[in-house]
Amino acid sequence: MPMKYDLVIIGAGPAGMGAAIIAASHGASVALVDENPVPGGKLRGQVYKEPKANWWIGQEIARNMEKEIKQLGVTCFLEREVWAIYPKWKIMLNNGEQLESDYVVLATGAIEKPIPIPGWTTPGVMAIGAAQVMANIHRVKPGNRVAIIGIDALSLTIAYDLKMAGVDVVGIYLPPFNEFSLDKSNPLKMIAYLSSLSHLAPNPILKLLGKLGKQASVQKLGVNYYPPFGMRVWGIPLHLRKAVVQILGDELVEAIKVTTIDRSGELETKQEKRIPVDCVCISGGLYPLVELANVAGCAFVYVEDLGGHIPLYSDEMETTQSGIFVAGNSTGVEGAKVAMAQGELVGAIISNRLGLLKHGTELIKQAKEKVNVARKNAVIKFHPTIESGREKVLHLWNEKAVK
Ligand SMILES: Cc1cc2nc3c(=O)[nH]c(=O)nc-3n(C[C@H](O)[C@H](O)[C@H](O)COP(=O)(O)OP(=O)(O)OC[C@H]3O[C@@H](n4cnc5c(N)ncnc54)[C@H](O)[C@@H]3O)c2cc1C
Repeated sequence: MPMKYDLVIIGAGPAGMGAAIIAASHGASVALVDENPVPGGKLRGQVYKEPKANWWIGQEIARNMEKEIKQLGVTCFLEREVWAIYPKWKIMLNNGEQLESDYVVLATGAIEKPIPIPGWTTPGVMAIGAAQVMANIHRVKPGNRVAIIGIDALSLTIAYDLKMAGVDVVGIYLPPFNEFSLDKSNPLKMIAYLSSLSHLAPNPILKLLGKLGKQASVQKLGVNYYPPFGMRVWGIPLHLRKAVVQILGDELVEAIKVTTIDRSGELETKQEKRIPVDCVCISGGLYPLVELANVAGCAFVYVEDLGGHIPLYSDEMETTQSGIFVAGNSTGVEGAKVAMAQGELVGAIISNRLGLLKHGTELIKQAKEKVNVARKNAVIKFHPTIESGREKVLHLWNEKAVK
């Protein structure tokens, strides 16, 4: 027999926990499911300094949220994977347990995209998120001399994490051009992207680029005259004109082979330099993890600005399947504060539907405003055009409603 709850939430990251806290604090019976042994999701690996010198320590925030969840009587199903969702919303867990609810929140987060590079299956090569988990959660250095391949918000953030953990990060490089690396191997595209991330990198030239870099002519100049030895960010060389074409080593990573590329990513010389390293981290970007929305029969849309395919959702975060809601990175890749605020919004909306709120409209309005503020003030923006992505989704939803 399925166990019945007012609300079942899948994913105990900041979005899922945010939704659980709000719904349970208004009196809903809530089940929270996660495959990990402790709640927190990707929040647990995050450590960075915010602009006003406050530290964002994900593990601490996750622990506090976990305490609140326990005090509110949320039932946690940890170390359980959701394998299927059946109509009238019956949720099947991998150990055979079943949960049932009229309301389900999919807060399953995002995952990393790999970029295949010759040698990428050699032990010692990992997705960059794994290095973050090792360094920030388990306090283990992923290597002593580490090369990072791929420039994005995540790789810059984790390069800093590794540096703080005492790792010698030899450089951040581009991947070679292939059908998976595409824009990530193109220096011109990368300099345009970097100009939107310059607030993350304490380098005066990058900051200047952030101010001027929106113009194509400035971007071309920036690539043409990019220093061959890289530009230093936290003391780590950031290379825009160098690609790692091979990872070397038989049983363990021993070195990378690096070559110079022209401004569109083509190999400029056949000269390759061998750089000794014992670990390589590849960063290919993130995309929303949304398989369960597919299983539940939700309609999907492709929105590049949000990280790819996402379930279509309304301004109340409800999908095209009545009672199935989404929150956090499963709606588009953003930082933890936005995910948490989205979770709280969904928690308020579902509490209202359950008839638990006295001033529901006002509370929901405030929760929506909190999401907007969190998005506006986000330190880490995975997609610089996230706002337009969100607008596109609402536009698509309204188009669907008109039909
Ligand atoms: C590798 C990686 C590193 C990141 N690092 C940063 C960073 O440094 N700074 C930053 O601001 N943002 C970072 N992010 C973005 C991050 O996803 C958001 O900051 C935030 O954690 C998103 O919250 P969420 O609740 O939507 O998802 P998550 O925090 O990802 O939580 C989702 C949870 O759902 C669980 N889950 C998924 N599917 C199932 C299933 N079928 N059954 C059971 N449980 C399931 C997952 O195990 C996870 O615990 C990172 C993302 C990734 C993928």
